[in-house]
Amino acid sequence: MKIAILAGDGIGPEIVAQAVRVLEALRSDGLKFELEPGLLGGCAVDAAGEPFPEATRRLVTDADAVMLGAVGGPQYDTLPREQRPEQGLLSIRKTLNLFANLRPAVLYPELANASTLKPEVVMGLDILIVRELTGDIYFGEPRGIEQRRGQRVGYNTMIYSEAEIRRIARVAFKAARKRNRRLCSVDKMNVLECTQLWRDVVTETAKDYPDVELSHMLVDNAAMQLVRNPRQFDVVVTGNMFGDILSDEASMLTGSIGMLPSASLDDRNKGLYEPIHGSAPDIAGKDVANPLATILSAAMMLRYTFDEEAGACRIESAVKKVLASGYRTPDIYEPGTKKIGTVAMGDAILANI
Ligand code: NAD
Repeated sequence: MKIAILAGDGIGPEIVAQAVRVLEALRSDGLKFELEPGLLGGCAVDAAGEPFPEATRRLVTDADAVMLGAVGGPQYDTLPREQRPEQGLLSIRKTLNLFANLRPAVLYPELANASTLKPEVVMGLDILIVRELTGDIYFGEPRGIEQRRGQRVGYNTMIYSEAEIRRIARVAFKAARKRNRRLCSVDKMNVLECTQLWRDVVTETAKDYPDVELSHMLVDNAAMQLVRNPRQFDVVVTGNMFGDILSDEASMLTGSIGMLPSASLDDRNKGLYEPIHGSAPDIAGKDVANPLATILSAAMMLRYTFDEEAGACRIESAVKKVLASGYRTPDIYEPGTKKIGTVAMGDAILANI
């Protein structure tokens, strides 16, 4: 197995270095893979004049999985759009046809005070949002802004084929099998035909997964339930636009952006794994960034691309132990806990692997 390592910009190199140490510790324990570094984002613009150079394209196409830090920084914000670091992200997702975005939102009991919701509402929270990433109204044609009868009108097209719905539903059913076997599909079938088809196809697909309990919810209700009683959910599957909104809402239930990993998968479980946060230029190079989201992304890589559940659990339980021992990077620090830096957090995780 080959893992491409794209550290990116800002805090990217610091946090990815800690995730690489964790992967290497598991490798010396018997997991077999090679790590190969590459350039993406601003660092690629600096070195090669473009955010997603040909060498990186070849590297990620050949690799079985990609570990990404984050890209971007204020020094790139005035570049033409096609040279911006974020363009590298969009290109890599498109090149690898990563249609399934998986975002867990887990609240560690020790961090319950970081949430803006009451501890009794979020305590024990453990949700996985599965968002379709390459279709829906974000990509549908026709689209545009034009003059009609003397005024401007704007329009987009919400469109899903049954094949697109079926493949994301399968990812979600399989993910539910690795968890508590409950899947909630979110749509707006009372108003939108496109999502009536979504509901029909998800229901048909459920026949192949009789061991997973399927429910359906309208998106407005889902947005409300996520803050009213988020613990009712196990896995949630939804389209690109609803998923964009609900996954951000779900991640903020935990209150700590430095703790949240993500995976984006193709139809053969090749994946891009990255923390949900950005490159945090305000704290780059200071050894204060929280590496746990990136380390937890490595756990997702083991689970979803390599089918190495035991390795994934070892990483996740090391994170739990380190938090229970009171170690915190500054972003999650509270009086009474022990404040440590990025590298020391990596050391603590390694000591518990
Ligand atoms: P950000 O997520 O980088 O930072 C938001 C805030 O959270 C900052 O105060 C930052 O210090 C803090 N933070 C983020 N990650 C942290 C961590 N691991 N540990 C401790 N604190 C952390 O968002 P932003 O400031 O809006 O964007 C900064 C740059 O990142 C921009 O150039 C943006 O385009 C880019 N960005 C990249 C990605 C990506 O690579 N996937 C995603 C979002 C933003």
